[in-house]
Amino acid sequence: MTASIIDGKAIAAQVRQQVANGVRDRIGKGMRAPGLAVVLVGDNPASQVYVGSKRKACAEIGFHSEAHDLPDTTTQGELLALIDRLNEDSQIDGILVQLPLPGHIDASAVLERIRPDKDVDGFHPYNVGRLMQRMPVLRPCTPFGVMKLLESTGIDLHGLHAVVVGASNIVGRPMALELLLAGSTTTICHRFTHDLAYHVGQADIVIAAAGKQGLVKGEWVKPGAIVIDVGIHRLPDGRLTGDVDFAVASERAAFITPVPGGVGPMTVAMLMYNTLYAANVLHR
Ligand code: NAD
Repeated sequence: MTASIIDGKAIAAQVRQQVANGVRDRIGKGMRAPGLAVVLVGDNPASQVYVGSKRKACAEIGFHSEAHDLPDTTTQGELLALIDRLNEDSQIDGILVQLPLPGHIDASAVLERIRPDKDVDGFHPYNVGRLMQRMPVLRPCTPFGVMKLLESTGIDLHGLHAVVVGASNIVGRPMALELLLAGSTTTICHRFTHDLAYHVGQADIVIAAAGKQGLVKGEWVKPGAIVIDVGIHRLPDGRLTGDVDFAVASERAAFITPVPGGVGPMTVAMLMYNTLYAANVLHR
């Protein structure tokens, strides 16, 4: 069997078009453009790339976008004071603090200071708790994007066995909550899991999010499974690859996401979606 490729770039473009249309509708009704503040502390090169793509997406979609680039020496107090100001700013619907933060800043304290109705990354304990209790408000962008990719297959997820490889706060755990919400039987694997091959082999849906290049071997994949690769790794020659051995897995799976062009583009698209949602629903 040769898998159908789930085209994340095309699906993300559709979401972004939907959001751009939503912005046009607001402006047409005389309302303000949704506002997103993107906060970057320090000069981590990967963070600069991610922040750059988020700001570019804002401009293309017609958002009001604010860049707050702070030096490495910023204190936690200064960062919290900026968040307090943005929390009160009526032009701002979403606040994004790019992670990782420098070591002297407590990331949890910063993320918890963001008002939950402006937490467009969906990392605040309030938003994670709402998702856990099946009443999601602002949903963590990467898992939310994966759900859109799964939806694109047209397959009913109820009762399917989903195996999530990775249990981080930003990907694995909220991913498992999304899959539970969708009615899948959900297993979470992590660095202490015994016999990962066995668990992956049971899966109708595999979500690889361990951040380990090629961890999920193609021959572990059950024939006909859906395979979603969240991992991103840069090879020495500059190309990107994921957590899944794509060549073999794509011979066994029914659907598979490529890296690049799978989950990656969805994360920024869902950030835009969440910001419009905050403007339209939470800040009317
Ligand atoms: P993380 O390091 O915070 O978490 C990794 C998780 O994988 C942990 O729970 C750990 O227990 C588990 N793990 C590690 N080794 C394992 C093993 N051998 N077997 C089973 N589980 C194992 O990473 P993260 O922030 O969740 O990111 C994971 C990957 O996803 C990274 O490659 C990251 O670059 C990528 N990522 C992509 C996007 C996107 O938009 N596509 C967004 C966020 C993260």
